[in-house]
Amino acid sequence: MSFAEWRLRNRFWTAYIVPLVILGLIGYGTWAYAQKLCYNRIYKELGHRSTCIGLITICCVLDVVLIVIWVETVLVGPGKLPQVPPYLLIESPSKQNTTKAPPSYICDPNGYPVWCSHCEGLKVGRTRHSSRNGYCVPRFDHYCLWIGGAIGYSNYRLFLLFAFYFAVLLLIVWITICCYIREIVTVHHHRLNGNLVALLVITGIGWILTWGLFISYVYYMSQNMTSIEVIEHKKRRKTPELAMQRFVCHFDSKTERRYVVKIENDYKHGSLYKKRGLYNNLSEFLGKNILLWPLPLPSTLYYGKEDTENSRLEDDLTYPYSESLGPFAIEYLEEKIISGQYITVFTPAKE
Ligand SMILES: [Zn+2]
Repeated sequence: MSFAEWRLRNRFWTAYIVPLVILGLIGYGTWAYAQKLCYNRIYKELGHRSTCIGLITICCVLDVVLIVIWVETVLVGPGKLPQVPPYLLIESPSKQNTTKAPPSYICDPNGYPVWCSHCEGLKVGRTRHSSRNGYCVPRFDHYCLWIGGAIGYSNYRLFLLFAFYFAVLLLIVWITICCYIREIVTVHHHRLNGNLVALLVITGIGWILTWGLFISYVYYMSQNMTSIEVIEHKKRRKTPELAMQRFVCHFDSKTERRYVVKIENDYKHGSLYKKRGLYNNLSEFLGKNILLWPLPLPSTLYYGKEDTENSRLEDDLTYPYSESLGPFAIEYLEEKIISGQYITVFTPAKE
C-alpha cells in the first residue's frame, strides 16, 4: 500500500495529526514564554513586574483568539453548494427541473456547463468537488492541513484571520526573546535556557512562514484568485500544454445568442472574476464592511452581497455562492465575439 493510499484510508486520523502538533506547539510555546522568559527572567531576575504581566496577558489573549478562530473555521466549514439542476439551454418538451442559465458561465467546448457526477448537479461559478468532504465546495481554495479542514467560500476570511493572528503572536514572542537575549547573556551573564533557544528558532521560522502565507493570500485576493487558480495561472504561463483549457459560454443580448469563447493562455488578467479596484476584489472574500474584516466573528458569512441585481433561479438557488465574471473578462469575451473568434454559437431556448 502506497503512502497516498494509506493516507486516503486513514484520512480521518491523518486529518488530526498536523492540527494536534500545532496545538501542542502553541501549548509548549506559551509555557516556555510565560515561565522561562516572562516569569524567570523578566520578573524574577530583572524585576520588571508589569512588563511580565503585560506580555503574558498579550500571549494568552492571542492564544484564545487563535483557538476561537480555529474552532469557527472548522465549524462554519467551507460551504456546501446545493444541487443545481441543468440549465435550460435547448428547447425541450419539459422545462421541469431545469434552471435559468446565468449570462456567462464556464463550459466545455460545446457550451455545456460543468457537471458533478458525485453530487448530480452543476458545478456553478468556481465550485470544486471535495472528495474529503464528499460534496461540491463553492470557491474551493485548498484543504488546510494545519487547521484540518477544507477552506472555501464560507470560511475563507476566518482562515486568513487565523494566519494573521498566528503571525502576530509568533512575531511578538520572537521580538521579545530577541530583545531580552542580549540583557540575559551579556549583562547578567546567564546561559540562555534551552527552551528559550527552541522557542526562538520555532517562532523565527513560524513568523516568516505565516507572514509569507498571509501576504500571499492578500495578493491572491487582490487578483480575485483562489490558490488553485493561482497554481493554474502559473501552469498556463510555464507549461501551457499541461494547463486546463478554459471556455466561457456568453449570452450576447444584442443578437440574443450564446457564444462559446476559448480563454487563451495569454489572457493577461489571470482571473475571470477580477473586478476593478482593490476594495471590490478584497470585499468579495472578506465582506463589504471593512470594519468587520479583522474581527474574529463568523458573522460576515454572506459577505454583504446585495440582493440579486437580476434575480434568476440559479442565483436564488445558489445564493450566496453565485459568482459573476469581472468587467475585464466581459470586455475580452465581447471583443472576441465581435471579431468572430468564437468556437460555436447557438440560440438558447426561450424561458
Ligand atoms: Zn460535487
